[in-house]
Amino acid sequence: MKVIEHIIKARDPLFSYEIVPPPRGHSIKDVVDAVEILAPLNPPWIDVTSHGSTVYFQEKSDGSIQKRTLKKRPGTLGICGVLQNRFKIDTVAHVLCLGFTREETEDALIELSYLGIENVLALRGDTPNFKKTVRNDQTINNYACDLVGQIKDLSNGKFLDELDEALPLDFCVGVASYPEKHFEAANLKLDVQNLKRKVSAGADYIVTQMFFENQKYFDFVKECRAAGITVPIIPGLKVLKSATQLKSVPKNFYIDLPTALVDEINASPEHALEIGSRWSRKQVEELLAFGVPSVHFYVLNDVHAVAEIVKSFK
Ligand code: FAD
Repeated sequence: MKVIEHIIKARDPLFSYEIVPPPRGHSIKDVVDAVEILAPLNPPWIDVTSHGSTVYFQEKSDGSIQKRTLKKRPGTLGICGVLQNRFKIDTVAHVLCLGFTREETEDALIELSYLGIENVLALRGDTPNFKKTVRNDQTINNYACDLVGQIKDLSNGKFLDELDEALPLDFCVGVASYPEKHFEAANLKLDVQNLKRKVSAGADYIVTQMFFENQKYFDFVKECRAAGITVPIIPGLKVLKSATQLKSVPKNFYIDLPTALVDEINASPEHALEIGSRWSRKQVEELLAFGVPSVHFYVLNDVHAVAEIVKSFK
């Protein structure tokens, strides 16, 4: 079922989850174990992230240096297929612009449709050190709004090549947003205008970057509604579990952490997970009271903590 249908039909609060494929060379077991923990909570859908390639330099036996590109975490499509078909949980496959040609994207979307996957999150991605070589007969999507356009074209049976009697590929499309502004945007207003481009291109719903102060989400929703964005805006949450995350989370995700949360964890770092869980639970309470369409958890390695929080709302 499509994410948007889940939202429309929901009678109780919805909780969705985002999981990450294992690194290349690792087993899918950890992912499956995490889903075993989430499955009893009846997730309406689970997102599976996608990862661009990285460039690295390898010294060969003759001493020469070889440039190599490698996708560190392949498996998005396969994991979506496992969750959808073995666990009967709807999935959202993340699809990136960067690192993929439009031709490769079309092929991936065809694979997803064969696996019965009806949802994608259209993202630009971040691969600052990797520029894919694009042949003359290939094309690329520069921004997520271009990718949304490509996916929505397929909903109208419009493939990159003109095909006779092509059947449409009908996906529900989500896009990303940033209550504290995308790090490249000059200001929040311009960022919201760019978000509106994604919705105008056909995005059905929006998921936010993680935030730790609900007021930022409330203000952001207001700003989006004032800009004429009417689709559901799903808040994204993460549970903090260690004092080291007080530095890594703001650095990696370009967000602020509230002073009260930072002070509390610094005062008793050994209780970071307990403090982080309590903070998230409070956020969920307020967000549900506000009437959010769903709460989306960035699970990463925190599946037990996330499951405990969600259980307390069931
Ligand atoms: P865009 O919407 O394309 O925006 C990127 C920047 O360009 C913004 O500053 C925007 O204001 C600006 N912009 C947008 N359109 C235009 C335009 N037409 N003209 C000029 N400027 C424009 N990354 C991954 O690699 N894999 C994942 O699975 C993944 N999942 C994510 C899930 C969520 C919910 C979120 C919030 C982020 C995720 N990311 C993921 C990170 C994401 O790829 C980065 O944040 C990336 O920098 C921006 O992606 P975007 O889709 O928001 O880009």
